[in-house]
Amino acid sequence: MKNIIFCKRCLYSSNHPLGITFDKDGICSGCKIHEEKDKLDWRHRFNKLKKLTNRYRSKSRKNYDCIIPVSGGGDSYFITHVVKNILKLNPLLVSNNKYFNTEIGIKNLTNLRIKFDADILMQNLNLNSVKKVTKYSLTEFGNIYWPIIAGQTVYPVQIASKYKIPLIIWGAHQGIEQVGMFSHLNNVEMSRRYREDHDLFGVDAKELVNIKSNLNDEDIFNYIYPDDNTINSIGVRGIYLGNFLRWDPTIQHMLMVKKFKYRTSKFNRTFDVYDHVDCFNYMNIHDLLKLYKHGYSKVTDHACREIRHGRISRDKAIELVKSYEQKKVLHLKQFASWLQIDLKSLNFLLDQFKNKKFWDQKNIKSWQFKGLSNYIVNNKNQKKLKNKSILYFFKSRNKDQNNQNSNYIIFGKGI
Ligand SMILES: [Zn+2]
Repeated sequence: MKNIIFCKRCLYSSNHPLGITFDKDGICSGCKIHEEKDKLDWRHRFNKLKKLTNRYRSKSRKNYDCIIPVSGGGDSYFITHVVKNILKLNPLLVSNNKYFNTEIGIKNLTNLRIKFDADILMQNLNLNSVKKVTKYSLTEFGNIYWPIIAGQTVYPVQIASKYKIPLIIWGAHQGIEQVGMFSHLNNVEMSRRYREDHDLFGVDAKELVNIKSNLNDEDIFNYIYPDDNTINSIGVRGIYLGNFLRWDPTIQHMLMVKKFKYRTSKFNRTFDVYDHVDCFNYMNIHDLLKLYKHGYSKVTDHACREIRHGRISRDKAIELVKSYEQKKVLHLKQFASWLQIDLKSLNFLLDQFKNKKFWDQKNIKSWQFKGLSNYIVNNKNQKKLKNKSILYFFKSRNKDQNNQNSNYIIFGKGI
């Protein structure tokens, strides 16, 4: 492939969809910004966080101090732990039902509420609308996660406005973690612009209502960000914990498993056992679409993160990516039946998103993958790591439920 540059330290390339730059030594902006984690005075930064959050404590004690967006996976436990047990704030947890719930995810969410003795608000959007929007975003943009991300990024802001709780606390900023879009020193906060440009892939909810889509205002109003007047009158702001403490999701998750019994799961398509355990589709059909469109999948993100934290060598990371990225995708049948289309049509639809840059069509049935991992070369003169085996960090002790064929766990409205 012409003009493609790979980072000499991690596995990201100049093709990264969030945008990436390289220094004169061939190290990417994500790796450079990661170096700040070992240089910054985190004690000082955490004190800044304490001061900042103190200002939002409810004086009357008749309201919550802040909002934490949570799910049955991801960093929900760690954020709640920091906010509740270390900062001693009284948070309101909010969660948008994504409908592709696994049993592990629901158990994690229930356990979170109990272990942290916190109140939680759940949003269950009208299922018919969710299906319509999902079908449209899949057909048009090759994305099944648009309504989920739109819902989970806007719901906390709506609740902040409605309940007059101005402070929203998120985990890490993806743009900082993956590609070093900003320095930790920029103290970047949640913004409408980043949400639209990156979280939602440049697609605004209002654009979904058009002649082709068969969607109307009722289907999409819950995905629309509150207007500036509403946000400013309450003073809503969203901060990222990753700017105030040294963010390391793997170690954080291991701590959450030990302390609060966070449940983990093996996956077919990556070695990580902590991320997205609450969803049947994120590490399957959603990950497949990533591979189709961008030529790499989530295992590359996990591998890059582990290289940067010094737990695996670049060679080992390449080996892991190659062994996982083309593994079987599970739960396609369930998704097709949820969307009320047959499996053949779903597969046909998915094939439309194979980017010709990364996929060669031999004949009607056979494709050849020539994704990014085919072009990465091992670096000579790499320092050897004498670390514990990667298995030490990524062992799931829970019964492997997410890889079994079972139905989405239903709660709230509909099926
Ligand atoms: Zn890099």
